[in-house]
Amino acid sequence: MRIGVCPGSFDPVTNGHIDIFERGSRLVDKLIIAVSTNPNKNSLFSMEERVEMIRNSVKHIPNVEIDCTGGLLNEYVKSKDATIIIRGLRALSDFEYEFQRALFAKFLDDDIETVFIMTNNKYSFVSSTGIRELAKFGGKLDGLVPEEVKARLEERFCNIDNK
Ligand code: ADP
Repeated sequence: MRIGVCPGSFDPVTNGHIDIFERGSRLVDKLIIAVSTNPNKNSLFSMEERVEMIRNSVKHIPNVEIDCTGGLLNEYVKSKDATIIIRGLRALSDFEYEFQRALFAKFLDDDIETVFIMTNNKYSFVSSTGIRELAKFGGKLDGLVPEEVKARLEERFCNIDNK
C-alpha cells in the first residue's frame, strides 16, 4: 500500500489546499493530511479547529485521513509507513523553501520522496496568510475557502472588532 503524507499548518485550510488533497489522493492508496504546529507562525485557529475544518471539507475524498503532528516530519512519515511527502507549489517564491525542505528530507531518509503538485491556476494566488488578511479587512472570501471556513473567519474577526 502506497501511503502519502500532505503536511501543512492549514491555518485555515483553503480551496487551494483542498485541490492538492484531491489530486494528491489519486497518486496514493492513502493520503494522510498531517496538520502541524509551525514554530515560526502564530496560528489564528487552534489545532482542533484546523482539523475540524479540514475534516468537514474532505468528506468527498474517500482515501484521506487527518492527523496532527508536531515533531520532525521524516519521523512522522516513517511512523505511518508512508514513503511520499506531497506538497503544493504556487509561485517561484515557494520554490526555495520547498526545495530546501525536500533536500533535508532526502538527506535524512533516502527512501522518502517529496512530490510536488503544481497549483491549480484558479488558486495560484491563495494562501492562508492572504486569506486571514482578507478576512480581517472584510474582503470577499467566496470561492477561495470552504463555506465553513468562511463562516468561522467572519465570526472570528467580527468578534475581535466587537471587543
Ligand atoms: P506550511 O505552513 O507547511 O507552509 P501551509 O498550510 O501554508 O503549510 O501549506 C501547506 C502546503 O500547501 C504547502 O506545500 C503549500 O505550498 C501548499 N499550498 C498552499 N496554498 C496552496 C495553493 N493555493 N495552491 C497549491 N498549493 C498550496
